Amino acid sequence: NIEQTFSRDCAEMIVDRYFDSHRKKHPDTYSNTLTRHDIIEGLTTNQFMTWYQPKVWIETGEWFAAEALSRWVHPDHGMIYPDQYIPVLEEMGVIDKLTWHQIHVIAEDLHRWLNLGKKIAVSINISPSMLDDRSLAGKLAEVTDHYGIDHDQLILEITESMLMENLAHSLETIARMKLKGFTLSMDDFGTGYSNLHQLERMPCSELKLDKSLVTGAYENPTRKVILESNIQMAQKLGMKTVGEGVETAEDWFLLEELGCSIGQGYLIGKSMPASDLFTWATDWSIRYKQMMDQKS
Ligand code: C2E
Ligand code: MG
Ligand code: MG
Ligand code: MG
Repeated sequence: NIEQTFSRDCAEMIVDRYFDSHRKKHPDTYSNTLTRHDIIEGLTTNQFMTWYQPKVWIETGEWFAAEALSRWVHPDHGMIYPDQYIPVLEEMGVIDKLTWHQIHVIAEDLHRWLNLGKKIAVSINISPSMLDDRSLAGKLAEVTDHYGIDHDQLILEITESMLMENLAHSLETIARMKLKGFTLSMDDFGTGYSNLHQLERMPCSELKLDKSLVTGAYENPTRKVILESNIQMAQKLGMKTVGEGVETAEDWFLLEELGCSIGQGYLIGKSMPASDLFTWATDWSIRYKQMMDQKS
């Protein structure tokens, strides 16, 4: 039974303890937006939403998965993006709570979509501290089993930077998740955070090529070679590849030519509330057909 929002006392205590020191260390993050009051209110009244960005098979254009992305819908500041607050919540030690809340929301959505006859998979971004919890796999199984969701409908996105802190624990947690049948994905590959050495020790079945490698690679011969060799390497390791940051038809066609398995990016669809996904899917299938017609 997971407590999904913070009591006011608890939020105030956390914020008082970390806010000033965090702000001194990372002045850019705050850029006059986040105040102590904002964070307390955000946590206690749960202003965090889960949005979804579609992932599609490049071979067929078929929609089969989505990445869950956190959005803070602030009553005064409007939408605040995760790069602004995820690091803050991680440092304050409260990210696990947000993520568990998100996992419940996702499980409910997956359950609802199953009832509508649509079985998709959802990716979740996992913060480093979550991997310290060796019962993570068991807890995830409890939630998915409760909602009647197959374990392979959950994809856990992990980056290398996460493994630094307590490597033995992290690797054990990861191995347990693999054993339970959850899908593991290495995020941000090609940014310097996820490196080749990690491929050896992490049993990931999906490799996410960072958007800095993908967007516009068709007009950059060097990047094209890097992209191609990463895709071939992943294939030889039996991993699927996800090209992130597919912004144009040119990006899509290059990934297709290089044999990348999955596409994600603004061309296909931006992140959106769950309620918009089915309308998006109809629109996308039309746009996909047009794109294929124009190619031939
Ligand atoms: P990520 O996991 O690598 O997620 C992909 C990011 O790329 C998302 O940004 C997405 O909106 C953006 N993106 C997708 N397609 C395109 C494209 O075609 N062009 C461009 N320019 N960008 C694209 P977002 O939502 O701002 O998230 C940023 C990062 O914040 C994520 O990177 C992830 O590391 C982190 N994050 C987001 N939600 C969560 C969460 O719930 N928990 C944790 N721990 N981290 C999260
Ligand atoms: Mg991700
Ligand atoms: Mg990524
Ligand atoms: Mg990223």
